[in-house]
Amino acid sequence: MINVNHHHEINVFNETASRMLHMTTPILQVAEHLLIQQFTLSELISQTFNQKNGQRTILNLAIDGENKQYEATTFFQTDDEHTEVMVILYDLTTVLKVERMQADFLANASHEFKTPLTAITGFAETLQGSAGEDQSIREQFLQIISDETKKLTLLVNDVLSLSKIKHEPDRNTEERINLYMLVQEQWQSIQHLVIKNDIKLVNDIPDNFEVVTFKNDLTIIVKNLLANAVKYNRENGQVRLSAQKTADHWSFSVRDTGIGIPTNQQARVFERFYRGDESRQKTIADGTGLGLAIVNELLAKHQGNIKLNSQVGVGTTFTVIFPNK
Ligand code: ADP
Repeated sequence: MINVNHHHEINVFNETASRMLHMTTPILQVAEHLLIQQFTLSELISQTFNQKNGQRTILNLAIDGENKQYEATTFFQTDDEHTEVMVILYDLTTVLKVERMQADFLANASHEFKTPLTAITGFAETLQGSAGEDQSIREQFLQIISDETKKLTLLVNDVLSLSKIKHEPDRNTEERINLYMLVQEQWQSIQHLVIKNDIKLVNDIPDNFEVVTFKNDLTIIVKNLLANAVKYNRENGQVRLSAQKTADHWSFSVRDTGIGIPTNQQARVFERFYRGDESRQKTIADGTGLGLAIVNELLAKHQGNIKLNSQVGVGTTFTVIFPNK
């Protein structure tokens, strides 16, 4: 909060204002100090005095090298002797950032849904015409429709998982889980991918390695990392699992012998809908670009962390770290 008296002198400049504007209490006890450093704010104060009415605006400021958006509301107060203006600052940076991310997410999701839907509609319409009478064309087109429908289902499931992490309260409770067994089970569940690429699992996690956490969430994390390690592997490649415990953490690593992730893409793989250049071309594997974003959200929920180490043509290691309970 900032208070400015009728001489345009600042008589209150509290801690929060000082932190938000990155200014110590103005040395010159006059609003001119603000004028020099925060022109828009000082304009707002003058306007409030002139119009004798409260004002509101959004301030875009660069504070300490960071872009900030503050809502500044002014209140005009007067009695027989004094007039003064009070300024309340409210930090909107995070709220606006989340709004922008939601808008981006919606735009990206719509785009991703459109691609398979266009294909399904197009091929279905073609089949309704004379092309549908040719059996080989019919089989070929029906296969495309079936493949695109599967992609759509994957996409819907991933979008729903993401939205659940954010909006649904966790009804599960923590339980003791054998990590070795969980990996074995999840490896079985992605056999269709494993067989396609002929990948071998080396599970070096001790068979009595137990952790206490939310089973559903850990299962999704393990499954997504295993599926990627298989999808982006080379033929006859290997996926090696290991796990460690320290006094305050436990962790596990998924190491593959695959295509690797170029350094300039490594920071981006956790973004929603991001697919690496090669994966985008769909020559390697189908995917939604949401797998690692889901892993990341789940880890954030449990104060976990993920590290990535990768070398193009050699392989990738993802290490997941959880605090001990
Ligand atoms: P998807 O696999 O559906 O494309 P993800 O969010 O799981 O989406 O991964 C994002 C991108 O990160 C992938 O498209 C791929 O380019 C890259 N990636 C993820 N895991 C690996 C891996 N183990 N090896 C190489 N690239 C990977």
